[in-house]
Amino acid sequence: MTENRFFALAIDIGGTKMECGIVDSQGRLLSAVGKHQVPFNGEGIADPAVLIDLISPYVEQACRMEGDFLGIGLGCCGNINQKTGMAVLIANLHWRNVPFGSMVRDAFGLPVYAATDGRMALLGELAWGAGRGRKNVAWATIGTGYGGYLYLDGRLYAGAHGFAGNFGHNTWDELHGSLCGCGRHGCVETFVAGPAIARAGQIAADTKTSPFLSQIAIQRVIKTRDVFDGERSGDTACQNIIAEVIRLVSINLGGLVNVLDLEMIIIGGGVAKAAEDLVERISVKTREYLMTEEAKTDLIIVSETFSNSALFGASADVFLQQGRLVL
Ligand SMILES: [Zn+2]
Repeated sequence: MTENRFFALAIDIGGTKMECGIVDSQGRLLSAVGKHQVPFNGEGIADPAVLIDLISPYVEQACRMEGDFLGIGLGCCGNINQKTGMAVLIANLHWRNVPFGSMVRDAFGLPVYAATDGRMALLGELAWGAGRGRKNVAWATIGTGYGGYLYLDGRLYAGAHGFAGNFGHNTWDELHGSLCGCGRHGCVETFVAGPAIARAGQIAADTKTSPFLSQIAIQRVIKTRDVFDGERSGDTACQNIIAEVIRLVSINLGGLVNVLDLEMIIIGGGVAKAAEDLVERISVKTREYLMTEEAKTDLIIVSETFSNSALFGASADVFLQQGRLVL
């Protein structure tokens, strides 16, 4: 007799890509991970109906599988109301008050658990990754944006409106900072996320302070990864740009640890993966900004466990909310 298995469909919607996969209650992937471009309409707004069409084959696949299909976990790259599934503000998708959670629920007649991708990623790490057994953990992502989610005293911390963890929108320098996606100037995110690195690289190319980037700029605009390539090749301007990113992230995370006395920070996102040792360098640098010797000794800063922790965490949310998973 085989043990009954439980599984969920996990969906992770980012600013440009959507990933889908079927995951069981042990955190094992039961299907290939499907990757899709987010469909945008002529006005640059992500189209919810087309997204649901893209999700549909995965629901059909899950319905055909043996075992109990418990529902859909839906992570989204912005502020989404966990209780209602309302996408309150998702800047990259140009969504404001789109009831996406209930649209998915109505389309498939299945339980749907929608939340910000930061919560999902942290859940994935707590359930099956680096955060297992820990009680005070922050998730941080450095990619198109910068921010995260918190697990404090053994509880996921959503805050008064469910928007906790937006530490990338702490102001660093409103006088010299550029306009942020949140509508204000000079948030940390505008200095450390991918677009900021690319922008600093473009300036270094245009002002000829970086020979490496000036060469590339003859052909095309500078991308984030060019700055990392330049750093690896020994270009001083690129090294300075990345060193400044590491410094600001470390000040920001160090401040977080001083306030919350965290034991672990798990870092994910495309920028964090752009250099193999970036997370390690952030870990070393962050210690300069910690107040106590205990934190300096004990704080663990590591890279995310999965290629996409938010995808796994989206399924963990289904199991957690249906009592099939205890953190
Ligand atoms: Zn901001």
